[in-house]
Amino acid sequence: MGQTASAIPAGTSQCPSQQVPALRETMASNNDLLSLFECPVCLDYVIPPILQCQSGHLVCSNCCPRLTCCPICLGPLGSIHCLMMDKVADSVLFTCKYECSDCTERLPRAEKSDHEKLCEFQPCSCPHPGVSCKWQGSLDAVMPHLVHQHKLITLQEEEIVFNANVNIPGTGTWAVIQSCFGLHFMFVLKKPEECNCHQQLFAIVQLIGTRNQAENFAYRLALNSHHRRLTWEATPRSIHEGITTAIRNKDCLVFDAITAQLFAKNGRLRIKVTIAKR
Ligand SMILES: [Zn+2]
Ligand SMILES: [Zn+2]
Ligand SMILES: [Zn+2]
Ligand SMILES: [Zn+2]
Repeated sequence: MGQTASAIPAGTSQCPSQQVPALRETMASNNDLLSLFECPVCLDYVIPPILQCQSGHLVCSNCCPRLTCCPICLGPLGSIHCLMMDKVADSVLFTCKYECSDCTERLPRAEKSDHEKLCEFQPCSCPHPGVSCKWQGSLDAVMPHLVHQHKLITLQEEEIVFNANVNIPGTGTWAVIQSCFGLHFMFVLKKPEECNCHQQLFAIVQLIGTRNQAENFAYRLALNSHHRRLTWEATPRSIHEGITTAIRNKDCLVFDAITAQLFAKNGRLRIKVTIAKR
């Protein structure tokens, strides 16, 4: 008897056609349940701890402080803890907040915010570090924007050498696109405002891609001259994280203007940028 059972290959469904309607039914009821969590004011989801008004209407915690009465029945604002809706929230699959940008994920409430941080459909801000550009768009639209709007140069190599005239006084920002492994990386060298007579330079690479994609790569920056070498290796930042925090935390190649002079030839600093797969 045992042999007969094991003769059926693992994973083979006895009757797949019966499973489809059942699945559809589950999805429909999930969507029905989900609609109960919609805030009537902002259409975002009301999440636990859920408060209801005396007639049972819900408002999200963002809208609640801005209201003086229930937007549906105009009675006093919700102050009754709705334990049942809290429980239902744990069995409903929520949509990602970037659903309107084509994300089709359905997630338990506890996984929603982690997913949204990594979601490839979240809008990107213009990653050009040297201009204050207010552009926002999808990941696919970033490269066309950088090339057409900012005329950034693209180099098609895993290893490039970037030349910068770091002798120019005041602040400076350099950026170049490096295309390899079917993706686009952006090397940035920044010379911000001097603080305490101490001019520092920051060099970093970001990926025009998601955090998950960035985890698959390492970048290496190397200054190499006059028998000296200074290197930095790290995971590229995703465009979704940006580079501002990394630069503030000095989580990048940092060196001062005096060090730059040690490596510069005729005022030009050569930085070798190498992208590799992890
Ligand atoms: Zn709301
Ligand atoms: Zn009400
Ligand atoms: Zn998503
Ligand atoms: Zn821009």
